[in-house]
Amino acid sequence: MKPLLLIVEDEETLVTLLRYNLEGEGYRVAVAKNGEDALLLAKEETPDLILLDWMLPLLSGIEVCRRLRRDNATRNVPILILTAKGEEEDKIRGLDTGADDYVTKPFSPTELVARIRALLRRSRPALGEEKLEIGDLTMDLASHRVRRADREIVLAPTEFRLLRHFLEHPGRVFDREQLLNAVWGQDVYVELRTVDVHIRRLRRALNTNGETDLIRTVRGVGYALEETRASQ
Ligand code: CA
Repeated sequence: MKPLLLIVEDEETLVTLLRYNLEGEGYRVAVAKNGEDALLLAKEETPDLILLDWMLPLLSGIEVCRRLRRDNATRNVPILILTAKGEEEDKIRGLDTGADDYVTKPFSPTELVARIRALLRRSRPALGEEKLEIGDLTMDLASHRVRRADREIVLAPTEFRLLRHFLEHPGRVFDREQLLNAVWGQDVYVELRTVDVHIRRLRRALNTNGETDLIRTVRGVGYALEETRASQ
């Protein structure tokens, strides 16, 4: 089925333009004119990507983003922010809140479509495919099996969820707080250093045979899962 994009935008003319361009590219389009509708539609329709305007009536874009990320049903849906030119702070706040990318208004439809494509490609594993992989590491979601080349890796549930989160966002750096929220849940009280403990366990399990370490420690920031590491 064609990917479904949810446009969250209150400006009628922009919605028309977006719909025209995106349908022309073969996407299905759903529209929400405010944040409340966006949250409802995102849950009901499970879009493949959300195009989120930052300046919305009632609920702000940032709040919508935050709530989408908090909800299990929408946690992994890629979010592309539409922001006005020069609102540098919004972009940073947006990315902090869990958005995946942003496009500055006014934007060219070609650029927007390219960004959408890239995001969909990146998130495809999270969109119901059975298998997630990076390099020689594979995770079979149906059977809950993890393998590195020919070796089967047995992971505890937390390490499994942690690895899954990384595999769904290859190359992306997460700080400890983001990992806590994504893997342990928003309302659970867990110390930040717990994340380090589980990262260590995950590393040990993945690299038993002296394989290349796929987890990159970004000093002062957090962790990322990457296929190739820069030589040190
Ligand atoms: Ca707006």
